[in-house]
Amino acid sequence: MRVIFQDRRKTGHLDLEAIEMAVRSAMHHAGAAALTELLQFPTPASEQRRLPCSCGQHAIYRELRSKPVLTAVGKVGISRPYYLCPHCHAGQFPIDVELDIEDTEFSPGVRRMQAVVGQEAPFDHGRQQMKLLAGLEVTTKAVERTAEAIGADIAAHEQEEIRRAVQLDLPIVIGEPVPILYVEMDGTGVPVVKKETVGRQGKIAGQSAHTREAKLGGVFTQTKCDAAGYAIRDSDSTTYVGAIETAEEFGKRLYLEAWNRGWSRAKKKVVLGDGAEWIWNLADQHFPGAIQIVDLYHARQHLWELARKLHPNDETNQKRWMEFHQDLLDHGKMKKLTVALRSIDTNNPEVADKLRIEADYFHRNALRMRYPKFRRQHLFVGSGVIEAGCKTVIGSRLKQSGMFWTLRGANAIIALRCCQINARFEDYWEARRAA
Ligand SMILES: [Zn+2]
Repeated sequence: MRVIFQDRRKTGHLDLEAIEMAVRSAMHHAGAAALTELLQFPTPASEQRRLPCSCGQHAIYRELRSKPVLTAVGKVGISRPYYLCPHCHAGQFPIDVELDIEDTEFSPGVRRMQAVVGQEAPFDHGRQQMKLLAGLEVTTKAVERTAEAIGADIAAHEQEEIRRAVQLDLPIVIGEPVPILYVEMDGTGVPVVKKETVGRQGKIAGQSAHTREAKLGGVFTQTKCDAAGYAIRDSDSTTYVGAIETAEEFGKRLYLEAWNRGWSRAKKKVVLGDGAEWIWNLADQHFPGAIQIVDLYHARQHLWELARKLHPNDETNQKRWMEFHQDLLDHGKMKKLTVALRSIDTNNPEVADKLRIEADYFHRNALRMRYPKFRRQHLFVGSGVIEAGCKTVIGSRLKQSGMFWTLRGANAIIALRCCQINARFEDYWEARRAA
């Protein structure tokens, strides 16, 4: 270092960035040397050369074995006792378990970094961040493997909690009453590798699917409305859960999240979503007693589709038609709206079909479209929170061009990402360390 400084002084030019990076690298080297020293474990004393094996027999100390481990200060070498069971031939490194480096060549500190960068952006981007921010060289594959392994572990913990929830074994969450608690859900397609869509029908008839639907749920609270009476979401109150899974599995997941967020002590409960059938099935099953609201903007979209079918390429008449019918919708006059739709005469069978389907849609969801009533209670009537969530939680990370996921990989990253966005990753990691 002194040489560098003297040299720079002579030339009269100090390149601070070059120097700070060189210093960091030197600190890493010194730190790695010290760590390596610390990680040379001695041969066990003669009375410590037998360990219980999971097969019920005993593993016997064989020798000291070494492996490289990448730590926050770079590559170090660890040497520790190796035990082998003569009965079942299972080997073990008790020190690795203690240090949390079992079956991995990355230290806990480095794995935490890999998980954080891996959930945030494409894995190769994560690799570059590790290099720039931490001065650590890892492969793109290593970021992927570690982030997915940690995500899978988070998902496994959640499954365990869900299992307990299903057995009604949930601890009562003590806390202040929640004035209004919202549960929103939606689905969004995630591009997957071919084997994950074998035998599945795509959106276009006759074509195979190349996406799978990730279901995303959001839970948030509301305590206030603005001067005009419009609902205001409590800032930072939204938490998300998600996975590519069946509606049945997802229902349990979302129920657990709502429970943890105070469902049982909410004074008013609301479920908001678009018209998808699975959403309302789940709402009936898991959230009985909640006010059900169909997103107003989705409902309007349904009307727009009709307007375009009835008056193709005729914007003036589309708008005129909308004015009248949207007014009925916005004012919750669902009976009038369905009657109006059913009384429209057409000799185009396709349009007639569409009219019937949409009239049924509005009829079926009429109770969920009592917008004036919901507005009087200062409730949200749009599911913007979950739609934004689909973009920020799922889309921005999993739907970038060129990405194709396995279900396992996608679900691990969704679990990790939700954990991070819900500000629970630190807790998870600390709990893991304590375990
Ligand atoms: Zn054994």
